[in-house]
Amino acid sequence: MSQPDLGRSTLSIHGSSLKDAHGAPHMPIYNTTTFGFDSTEALLDVVDGRTPGALYTRYGLNPTTFALEETMAKIEGAEAALAFCSGMGAEAAVFAQYGRDGIVCLGDAYGGTMELLADQLPLLGIDTTFLLGSELDRLEEALKTGAKLVFFETPTNPTHEVFDVAEISTLAHEHGALVAIDNTFASPVNQRPLELGADLVVYSATKYLGGHSDVTAGFVLGPAELVTPVWNWRKNFGTTIAPEPAALLARSLRTLTVRVEAQNRSAQAIAEALEADPRIARVLYPGLPSHPGHDLAVKQMQGYGGIMTVEVDADGATTSKVADRLELFALAPSLGGAESLATQPSTTTHHGLTPEERARRGITDSMIRLSIGLEDTEDLLADIRQALEAVTA
Ligand code: PLP
Repeated sequence: MSQPDLGRSTLSIHGSSLKDAHGAPHMPIYNTTTFGFDSTEALLDVVDGRTPGALYTRYGLNPTTFALEETMAKIEGAEAALAFCSGMGAEAAVFAQYGRDGIVCLGDAYGGTMELLADQLPLLGIDTTFLLGSELDRLEEALKTGAKLVFFETPTNPTHEVFDVAEISTLAHEHGALVAIDNTFASPVNQRPLELGADLVVYSATKYLGGHSDVTAGFVLGPAELVTPVWNWRKNFGTTIAPEPAALLARSLRTLTVRVEAQNRSAQAIAEALEADPRIARVLYPGLPSHPGHDLAVKQMQGYGGIMTVEVDADGATTSKVADRLELFALAPSLGGAESLATQPSTTTHHGLTPEERARRGITDSMIRLSIGLEDTEDLLADIRQALEAVTA
């Protein structure tokens, strides 16, 4: 059976062409920093890239890393993949390679990304123009100033704004710019940016790809021509994934589809139930027809993910009490794991912004972001409903 005929679940299990010499069903952990050669000639063949092979783990030339990257590339439908020690490591390497003429960042990005773009990269002469979704008509103007990289998340955090990947990619390409998408929220199960026209995809694999809140990692994926130049940045920044997390992540990828599809179903049911609850003013979830980005999400996503933001019909202090009363949901600023998590953006992820800036971004004190895990849907709903009693208490 040829690989192009295989589905994503099959590829997530059988995607690596590398086979273990002893018949282990999956590539074992090569917990070694370096690899020996029989001759200088054989060593130089690998060093000079004439023969693919293991050499040095920080270079990513380790069989455990190879197997992970080949599998992830197959899942994403990408020609090439690079695995990093974190999502930030992956983003930093892309910005260093492709952001030097300027970056345009659309909408709300993860706080760490915003900090890197706004505070650290300008010190190196890499400047970013930040545009909100409501300012999309200024994208062309920003591209005319010479920026050669457009970067965004879709859906965004925490308002779940949906950007049109195909339309933005067409415009960027007309101006000779590349488009890199942080697809962490959607995962490859729910959204395929490369098929929609984007050039590169980055992930915090710490979220859905890892899926168990026990591994920190990242990916850059795309055509080999664009991914290969990023390799040197990873090598010399020293942000390559280590063998143990690489094996753990490969283990997690084998269940990616079933996990994400279950989280999609559970989140949709919870979003619909909460939308009907009088103690909730608004539910922001792309799978709800009431969401402003719903039609676009239907067009470009295969599922709507496990994350939603609910706006409690109460002030910020009461909303904190609701969050504090949650029992199954841990109050933690992450997402994508088997465990459900909750966070009030104004006190965590967006706490560093001024109240005016939060208001400009549509973020209110009454919002709680929920990352729906793999617990029983009814149990999660019962937990949210009991926590909402704080509104009427
Ligand atoms: N992108 C998104 C959307 C995130 O939520 C995060 C972390 O929360 C990152 C990137 C950074 O990933 P990491 O924590 O793996 O460096």
